[in-house]
Amino acid sequence: QWIFLSGRFVKKEEATVSVYDHGFLYGDGVFEGIRVYSGNIFKLEEHLNRLYDSAQSIMLNVPYSMEEMAAIIVGTVQKNELDSAYIRVVVSRGPGNLGLDPSHCSKPQVVVIAEELNMFPKELYDKGLRVGSVASRRNRPDVLSPQVKSLNYLNNILVKMEANQAGVDEALMLNDQGYVTEGSADNIFIVKKGTIYTPPVYLGALEGITRNAIIDLAKEHGYTLEEKPFTRHDVYVADEVFLTGTAVEVIAVVDVDSRKIADGKPGKVTKHLLSKFRELVTTDGVS
Ligand code: PLP
Repeated sequence: QWIFLSGRFVKKEEATVSVYDHGFLYGDGVFEGIRVYSGNIFKLEEHLNRLYDSAQSIMLNVPYSMEEMAAIIVGTVQKNELDSAYIRVVVSRGPGNLGLDPSHCSKPQVVVIAEELNMFPKELYDKGLRVGSVASRRNRPDVLSPQVKSLNYLNNILVKMEANQAGVDEALMLNDQGYVTEGSADNIFIVKKGTIYTPPVYLGALEGITRNAIIDLAKEHGYTLEEKPFTRHDVYVADEVFLTGTAVEVIAVVDVDSRKIADGKPGKVTKHLLSKFRELVTTDGVS
């Protein structure tokens, strides 16, 4: 396996970065997760836009133009001869000294990893997930915007650990006002009386690229969809609940805080949107 590491391809075993890299010392950097389906890189432009926006927000200068970065990503997939893959793009502040000040960091580090994807087991899609709300709150948008996919994912990691401890598959994150925002690394949708709802991102959710694709697909297929704040209660009494994300695609939730959702099985709308999403990913992309 070949890794792109700041300008060259190196073998996985030799792909190492400095312990002085502020990405390592402070989580100072940004990242993206992207999927390749049958040789097509899904929504590459959207992922690049988000990566560069994240970098701009934290004043990190990506040392490549967007076109160059696209070529690097395509090149990494090709070099590894991958047909279906998960790509991780990381831009860190680069090596500096032990102080916080990033002005001592000489050069941002760019890493692109593409590897065969271990899909979530089919059984999880058939059965659906159990999720639980957690005590940790989504960071406030006015502190560090949830739109920044920063390397400092501690908030999300803590949330995931809380879910593990509670024995559920995924966490339900709330904002400081108690509105539902998202999962640890996925967006949430509910269906009630035929209408699909998802939280507006200003509540404190990442504007997921899968989320946006599902919004478009839902509208295209005649569903009514509203971006509207909702609480845990609304999730408990929903007809369907599902999560979306690059890794997970679209997956049903059948239990929330030990409340069985409807009949406890993945719902009709969820299954319909998953099948449409799987059609979309093979036809929409850069190869
Ligand atoms: N929310 C968070 C916090 C995430 O990290 C992710 C994953 O990237 C998502 C939502 C889903 O976003 P996307 O569909 O762009 O993968």
